[in-house]
Amino acid sequence: MHIRKRVLVTGGAGFLGSFLCERLVASGCDVLCVDNYFTGSRWNVSSLLGNPSFECLRHDITFPLYVECDEIYNLACPASPVHYQFDPVQTTKTSIHGAINMLGLAKRLHAKILQASTSEVYGDPEVHPQKEDYWGCVNPIGPRACYDEGKRCAETLFFDYHRQHQLQIKVARIFNTYGPRMHPNDGRVVSNFIVQALRGHDVTVYGDGSQTRSFCYVDDMVDGLVRLMGAPSSLTGPVNIGNPAEISIRELAETVVELVGGRSRLVFAPLPCNDPVRRRPDIDLAKKELQWTPTVALRDGLTRTIDYFDTLLSDMDSQTLK
Ligand code: NAD
Ligand code: UDP
Ligand code: UDP
Repeated sequence: MHIRKRVLVTGGAGFLGSFLCERLVASGCDVLCVDNYFTGSRWNVSSLLGNPSFECLRHDITFPLYVECDEIYNLACPASPVHYQFDPVQTTKTSIHGAINMLGLAKRLHAKILQASTSEVYGDPEVHPQKEDYWGCVNPIGPRACYDEGKRCAETLFFDYHRQHQLQIKVARIFNTYGPRMHPNDGRVVSNFIVQALRGHDVTVYGDGSQTRSFCYVDDMVDGLVRLMGAPSSLTGPVNIGNPAEISIRELAETVVELVGGRSRLVFAPLPCNDPVRRRPDIDLAKKELQWTPTVALRDGLTRTIDYFDTLLSDMDSQTLK
């Protein structure tokens, strides 16, 4: 008898999680999505609702969870600065209490567990590009610390459960990812710029726009995460997953305005506190160990994302007109 793999995805109703759930169901897994809907929504997984291979459970992972599964992807945590700074204590609790609960669950079940960590563990990096052996430069008491330090401590917990309890762990350090289903108001740069440009509003560049980021399309990211979960148990990570194509925020703004084809102007606003100056992953490890490399070029991914937001905004406008 073929036994289907049972996979738990925490944060499965969020941006990345919803694409991951779709991908796992399509590959023949039974998926349990656990989410408290803080930033995610059932709309994100609407293509899966009613599918017998998919279940959704409203639950906050800072509380214990007793379910059965073979693999856990731990994605639950707000990812945009606006959302993770809304209730910073809850953000830290989600990363730390949430990790302890999910690791406790994995320990009881002997399940393999993957942590969605982040390039933010490198903080405002002094080395460039960032390799996995760089320890980072994080302000432990700044407004981003609830997220950065929460994710750093979660990595610590993963490695201690691995050493102390022989858990099979995988730690992915995810770099900026974009695509359809980003929340239109979550304040992240790609969604902000696209929504502003589609509405014909000014595009808000923080600082002088010379800071850089490297943007990975969501399909490439999901592919990297699934490959990491499937890699031999000796590969614990951390593994950087991201697109190494680096771009300044000003150039990103100009590209979005050009692709949307509108007449938005760039306006400059103050740079948020502790905003990293440069960020680009070194992905040699992922290339070598996972045979993974991103395939979607920025302009192609932006075009797909613009199409998504164009439809979303038209739907939202027609709702308000009714
Ligand atoms: P998202 O905000 O869209 O998704 C997070 C999901 O977690 C949401 O559905 C939210 O409701 C849920 N959640 C939050 N707190 C919870 C809790 N206590 N219990 C249960 N569910 C909870 O963000 P995303 O972009 O999809 O990010 C997913 C993961 O990837 C996060 O862990 C994030 O830190 C990590 N990550 C994302 C990026 C990126 O660029 N998108 C970059 C680095 C790391
Ligand atoms: N836990 C959980 N589900 C389980 C098993 C454990 O949520 O199936 C939680 C439990 O609340 C515990 C935490 O995970 O506090 C850590 O578990 P662990 O076994 O490491 O610690 P202990 O139970 O000894 O405190
Ligand atoms: N940013 C910007 N305008 C916006 C939103 C963000 O210039 O409307 C900048 C932000 O200051 C940062 C970069 O874009 O330098 C990426 O921001 P985001 O919040 O998307 O991600 P993170 O800072 O966590 O990488």
